Amino acid sequence: MVAGVCRLALRATLLLSLLPACDRPDPVGTAAKVDPPMASVEAPVKPSEMPPVDVAALESEMVAKHGEPQRARVHRGLAQVAALWRPEDGDLASFVREHFIADPAQLDAAFGRLEGVFEQIDGHTHEIGREARRATDVDLGPLLPIDTLLAAYDPGAHVTEDLFLAKPAFVVLLNFPLTTLAERDAQGPTYTRRQWAEVRLAGRFARRVPGEVRQAVTRATADADLYVSQYNLWMHHLVDETGARPFPSGLRLISHWNLRDELKGRYGDPEGLAKQRMIIKVMERIVTQTIPAGVIDDPRVDWDPFTNKVSAAPPETIEADAPKRSEPPRLDGAPEPDVRYAKLLAQFHAARAEDPYVPVAPTAIARSFELGRELPEARVKALLEQVLTSSQVPGVAKEIERRLGRPLEPTDLWYAGFKAGGAPPEHELDAITRKRYPDAQAFARAMPEVLRGLGFSAERSRWLAEHIRVEPSRGAGHALQALRRGDLPRLRTRVGAGGMDYKGYNIAVHELGHNVEQVFSLESVDHTLLAGIPGNAFTEALAFVFQARDLELLGLKQPDAASERERVLNDFWQTWEIAGVALVDVATWHWMYEHPDATPTQLREAVVRISEETWTRYYAPVLGGSGTPLLGVYSHMISYPLYLSDYPLGHLIAFQIEEHLQGSGKLGEEFERMASFGAVTPDVWMTHATGAPVSAEPLLRATEAALASGVDSK
Ligand SMILES: [Zn+2]
Repeated sequence: MVAGVCRLALRATLLLSLLPACDRPDPVGTAAKVDPPMASVEAPVKPSEMPPVDVAALESEMVAKHGEPQRARVHRGLAQVAALWRPEDGDLASFVREHFIADPAQLDAAFGRLEGVFEQIDGHTHEIGREARRATDVDLGPLLPIDTLLAAYDPGAHVTEDLFLAKPAFVVLLNFPLTTLAERDAQGPTYTRRQWAEVRLAGRFARRVPGEVRQAVTRATADADLYVSQYNLWMHHLVDETGARPFPSGLRLISHWNLRDELKGRYGDPEGLAKQRMIIKVMERIVTQTIPAGVIDDPRVDWDPFTNKVSAAPPETIEADAPKRSEPPRLDGAPEPDVRYAKLLAQFHAARAEDPYVPVAPTAIARSFELGRELPEARVKALLEQVLTSSQVPGVAKEIERRLGRPLEPTDLWYAGFKAGGAPPEHELDAITRKRYPDAQAFARAMPEVLRGLGFSAERSRWLAEHIRVEPSRGAGHALQALRRGDLPRLRTRVGAGGMDYKGYNIAVHELGHNVEQVFSLESVDHTLLAGIPGNAFTEALAFVFQARDLELLGLKQPDAASERERVLNDFWQTWEIAGVALVDVATWHWMYEHPDATPTQLREAVVRISEETWTRYYAPVLGGSGTPLLGVYSHMISYPLYLSDYPLGHLIAFQIEEHLQGSGKLGEEFERMASFGAVTPDVWMTHATGAPVSAEPLLRATEAALASGVDSK
């Protein structure tokens, strides 16, 4: 999220990308239709073939056999197994008798065996997937029709369910502790490394969602995604009260991303404000669903978003590449029947069906915060509110107002006038990088030198370079991790016929940051069960540390203080913006859980109300526009629910890591120390890395310093 172009892992999708390496969500299972699992030991579901297991009697029997000191372990292990055991898994009692391990030496041996075998399973499965995708990811010449099919093949899809069916998963659950995030937060700081590794070992089996339930989630997400992907507006067909068309022909924008970016792009346009206000009105009508259905992705219809009048577009204005449609244009001005909110409700119902299968996190909200990002919801909300109500907001707002020469209004939520500058012109940089890196292998050979330039020792630089394989990328470039020792992360970089241009170089340095983190977090971590780091925001922050030094590595000067100031203020404003959007997303999910039988219309009313209230509370005092539902416009809310909080968190984490590394003066050593700690919780990781848990303070401190430096005050 810090850098625009970045693809981390083979199977990383937008939805999965923030999950820690050892807590990936259950893949789609192979199981045939099954009964729901037992929600708890006390309320077992009646199995169809097996006689019901008397768990209490089994517990007494096991304690009698292994001794009173084992009671707590027996109780916990039995509950964990029984919660996910299905009738077709067979005789639970005899499994427990056979596989409960009381002897500490035997337990150590089993732990070691599982750690070793899981590393091999994960590592080799990952390699198979990497090779299946090789032709699509690496530039090997023209693609074959079969390559897209191979790329969609996921050899890891059924691994977790297979481990349940073959029973190793139940041996883990019988003998090692599942934990809640609250427990990890309370006790994590004093866990031994072995305890952390056990937490990750068991956490892998925290959920066992039946295949058809997972597939329903996938379908709901794909359906919402399709709806969002077709939600385009043909901007030339927006007309104002004089009948004028402020936007050029052919401009087709997807909501909300392109609409927002078009709005941002209009800050340099002398006529920009009227266009921005028009875009804001369009966005409000998308949220309230008062937008006429006939104007969505149809340039045959003209629309005045202020009066909401529609009319047939004059034939000469209709773009040649308009979607081909057999039906006539809709000119009745009628809105969609709350389709946007029906899609979101479908996501909710599909996600809620998973609840009984994840005893440690039995709501989609809990799974998002506690299993996904591993930061408690209350803490994330507090961090977002800290930014939203920060005393830096009025200062930055005043500076924007002064630059614009007018009072702020809702459109300035997306102010885009903070611009870093000071770098040499791009064509000069292109010439330097093309000469230095004529092909991917030239970059590979230069890696030790690049790493020394960043502050790694000669020995470390050589060792790192030996552990990274460089390959020519088909796309813009990405870093692909390895999941077992002995396998090597890949740095894929795009090099044109004339050599590596500056953009490609800038991306390659960013990806190298990922690769270095990947090498340390696999090779230098004491337990492979802890390989990795807490999540994507962390690896992005570390990669950014490399990327921000790219000019220096070419022997040029890094951007000056004024440029750095612009960057900080821009990041602050973006964090402030998206923090409110994230709060709306989370509040909407709470409302759905509180109203599980709501209709799409009721959900729309709730989202509009939540958006308006959030605006009135945090944004109206700065931007006016009291009561606008604008914050509900993000398409993520519909297609990637509960994801939005990761954006503001990503900014906070990046500032915290940067602040520490800048202050340390020992970039190489500190980077290694941070990246070798492994996939513990974000707060424990950050405390080890910087001395404090995840915090908004570094961003706020940087913003305060930027405002105080006031280079352009008059
Ligand atoms: Zn990245």
